[in-house]
Amino acid sequence: MAKKRKIAFVGSECYPFVKTGGLGDVMYALPRALVGEDCEVRVILPLYACIPQKYKEKMEFKGSFMMDLTLEGRTFFVGIMELQMDGVIYDFVENKEFFDWGNPYTGLWEDIPKYCYFSKASLAILNYLEWAPDIIHCHDWQAALVPLYKRTKFWDTPVGAAKTVLTIHNLRFQGICSIPHMKYWTGLRDDLFNYSVLKWNEQEANMFKGGIAFADRITTVSETYAQEIQTYAYGEGLDSHLRYHSPRLSGIVNGIDVGQWDPAADQLLAAQYDAETAVANKKINKTALQERLGLDQDENKMVLGLVSRLTDQKGLDLVDAIFPQILDSNTQVVVLGTGDPRYENAFRYYEGEYKGSVCAYISYDEKLAHLIYAGSDAFLVPSLFEPCGLTQLIAMRYGTAPIVRETGGLKDTVLPFSGDEGNGFTFDQYNASLLLGAVNDAKNVYFTNRGAWDEMVKRNMRKDVSWVSSADKYLALYDELMQ
Ligand code: ADP
Repeated sequence: MAKKRKIAFVGSECYPFVKTGGLGDVMYALPRALVGEDCEVRVILPLYACIPQKYKEKMEFKGSFMMDLTLEGRTFFVGIMELQMDGVIYDFVENKEFFDWGNPYTGLWEDIPKYCYFSKASLAILNYLEWAPDIIHCHDWQAALVPLYKRTKFWDTPVGAAKTVLTIHNLRFQGICSIPHMKYWTGLRDDLFNYSVLKWNEQEANMFKGGIAFADRITTVSETYAQEIQTYAYGEGLDSHLRYHSPRLSGIVNGIDVGQWDPAADQLLAAQYDAETAVANKKINKTALQERLGLDQDENKMVLGLVSRLTDQKGLDLVDAIFPQILDSNTQVVVLGTGDPRYENAFRYYEGEYKGSVCAYISYDEKLAHLIYAGSDAFLVPSLFEPCGLTQLIAMRYGTAPIVRETGGLKDTVLPFSGDEGNGFTFDQYNASLLLGAVNDAKNVYFTNRGAWDEMVKRNMRKDVSWVSSADKYLALYDELMQ
């Protein structure tokens, strides 16, 4: 029998321990999909204080050592706490100095040292555990220094033989700080602070830029985003760097964990359903949602859902611009999210102004999210840019029609409705009247052609949004690197 591939995942968040967005979902779901495909997978994560106690209680102490970091070679404690779940091994890096804050991200000034430490400690842990991976799969800027450390400070250690893959989940966040600050904390050689690797401008260095230069392969979470980030408009200042490294860059669209998101078994719903029972049971979820959120209870109203970080990325200024026009006596809007006060306040205002028709639930609430996906008829994702986007995938799995802008993974996963095919309603340019047009198209089908709408609900629920085919693509990429 062929030897199992050994894959180490390194990233800053992972559901169910700590999650602020889609990265957390991918760090959970992809390793689980890979263990089903003949891989041994270890996921390395920081042991943040905010990780729920119920998981901490199950962790087992695997050892500790001191590790040098910084230009001065200061030494820091590295503890390893381990947990196994469904075949995946999770190794948590313990260090109270860096991770004893409430949230994973506290501000770049502290986050830069924190993730320098984390990236280096991840490699040191693999050596300590004598578990030499074939592939180290790093995620986002927080783990982007791993390829640099691997090829410099660790090149002649067991972990140095691994190949590295760096996945860009969101290029907007890059880990940029002053060159002296980064030089001090990384302890990396001066010659790496040049324009081809870490140097960003005369004053600053950029961790993502360095990772992109040194990783064996770079992936991002959809094919369209892989193309978009090579352009000035989406490249966040790294477009020419990415064009230069494009022979090593590809896009693999995310899936969702169809066990975690399964309307047929979801205990958080008022009524479970599959494609056959969706039309009837989604109505039960709709009225349960209306009741829970204090909206007028009427199963005939069209409910538009929105579950999102409330930031500029998500196209919320477009939603804000047309909000009163979206509403009519037959339409309700439910917003779940936290973020920029500008959007939190705008949605709160609409809730006050349109009582019974609008709910702005300004919070992070995993449980409520499930009921919104199930109880809504359509789901808004009008993003300015969207590397992949998971909410439109979850919405489709729950038989809810996405209304999306054709960008990044939204473009790759939502086909426009056209009679007897398509999954949702789309628009191309970043423009509020185009979004309104797409919402009106959705309303038109919902209210005047319910037969076609219901067929779309079933089609969406049967669409493969699982990790299966994407996990195969990652495996093919790993195998190519291992040859
Ligand atoms: P991003 O990673 O840019 O935030 P994604 O669409 O990739 O966006 O992933 C968002 C994930 O976070 C989804 O699982 C979504 O359900 C969840 N999510 C976002 N905001 C909230 C919230 N306020 N409450 C519960 N879940 C949320």
